[in-house]
Amino acid sequence: MALDIVKNPDPILRKVAEKIKDPMDPTIQKLIKEMLETLKNANGVGLAAPQVGQSMRLCVIDVDDEIYVLINPQITAKSKSKYISEEGCLSIPGEFYLIERYDEVKVRYLNQEGKQVKIKARGLLARAMQHEIDHLDGILFIDHLKKSKLNKKKN
Ligand code: ZN
Repeated sequence: MALDIVKNPDPILRKVAEKIKDPMDPTIQKLIKEMLETLKNANGVGLAAPQVGQSMRLCVIDVDDEIYVLINPQITAKSKSKYISEEGCLSIPGEFYLIERYDEVKVRYLNQEGKQVKIKARGLLARAMQHEIDHLDGILFIDHLKKSKLNKKKN
């Protein structure tokens, strides 16, 4: 069953999400399945648990037909270089802005089976991971606009 997506300015999007203690807990496994379905239905690149009303450190990403389930993800390294590209968010529909992100990030997380994974992500995958992990800390992509002074892109 697809879930309703929480829209900005719902306060849950501004909360620091809670760490997940047991990834194999049936309620967490059910949430992962529903989030994957919600992401697919919405044709999105990524979805974080707070966006479906659950303040938990969990997000799902679909880049180049590859699905990633990230539980308690942490960015452990960032490239020196950054790049600018257009970004949107399912919680801020219809708005797209140019946002600066790190080219590459190393991320450590637990996957859907509860196993620890370390990944070096580049390009769109790295961008999606930075965007989704931001959600777990109550940060929205529009917050980066203030810092970068980039021009608003009209749609
Ligand atoms: Zn988002």
